[in-house]
Amino acid sequence: MAERRKFKKRFCKYCEQKVDFIDYKDLGALKFSLSERFKIMPRRLTGNCKKHQEIVTVAIKRARQTALIPYIVDRKNVVEYPFENVR
Ligand SMILES: [Zn+2]
Repeated sequence: MAERRKFKKRFCKYCEQKVDFIDYKDLGALKFSLSERFKIMPRRLTGNCKKHQEIVTVAIKRARQTALIPYIVDRKNVVEYPFENVR
C-alpha cells in the first residue's frame, strides 16, 4: 500500500476543475493521466471518473498522433518530470 500513497486522493481531478473538454494540445491537463513513461494511467490509480477517463484517453491518443507525446519511451531516456518545462 505504501507505493500507492501517491494516488491517495480518489476524486476525479477533472471534475474538481469542472473540465468538460480536454484539448489534446493541453499537456498540462493530460499529465494527470500520464505516467512518467507517457503511458496512460489506469483509472483505479488516478481516481478519474469514467467520463473523464474516456475524454483523456482520446486526447492522449490524438496528442500521440500529433507527436506531442511519444508512443514509446526508451528505458534509458526516462525523465522523472517530463512536463517540468511545460507551463
Ligand atoms: Zn470526472
